[in-house]
Amino acid sequence: MRIVVATGNPHKVEEIRAVLAPLGFTVLSLSETGRPVPPEPEEPHPTFEQNARLKAVHYARAVGEAVLADDSGLEVDALLGAPGVHSAHWAGREGSRQERDARNNARLAESMQGVPAHRRTARFVCTMCIATPAGEVLVETRGEMEGVIGDAPRGAHGFGYDPWLHLPDRGVSSAELPPEEKNAISHRGRAVRRLAYLVVHKRIRW
Ligand code: IMP
Repeated sequence: MRIVVATGNPHKVEEIRAVLAPLGFTVLSLSETGRPVPPEPEEPHPTFEQNARLKAVHYARAVGEAVLADDSGLEVDALLGAPGVHSAHWAGREGSRQERDARNNARLAESMQGVPAHRRTARFVCTMCIATPAGEVLVETRGEMEGVIGDAPRGAHGFGYDPWLHLPDRGVSSAELPPEEKNAISHRGRAVRRLAYLVVHKRIRW
């Protein structure tokens, strides 16, 4: 079965392909379909699940194939779940991805000033969904990676909020994990492995 991954991020396509290809799936990025790629829809909803669904249905209709979409972000308990679905653009939409990441991280550091250690719990969340061109949602999953917001950024791997999410069990930040180690425990890794499990064991076909 062919599955098109709705993301412009080649790293995400590779991560998803690494799980699904050994199970016999042909995993393509949107550009590899050879169809014109429609613009990304806004992510207007208050939950990750709703936004992933919206993206999957939007792109499945546009390319005429089954599409896997995801939505992800950081939830900080002391900030009542913020930045949540606003993670990517929490500190504005202007500038490159690196510039947005830097501004987001500065806002996070400022928002967490003075918050005591026991109230710094947080997690990365990723939801994934497969939809058909008819708009049917076939399967949905969620993965999480629990940690705490550190007192200072650490590490150079990864992207986004990785330097700030510290993993007390391991004594490192998410940005100190090499990519394979992060995939093994990350929100995205968990979501895609659960998705693969459900598709295979529930015999979901398209
Ligand atoms: P999207 O799902 O690609 O729109 O990502 C949403 C935003 O959540 C990203 O721009 C990052 O700011 C944040 N985010 C999601 N996953 C991660 C991660 O694995 N590390 C760091 N930040 C992440």
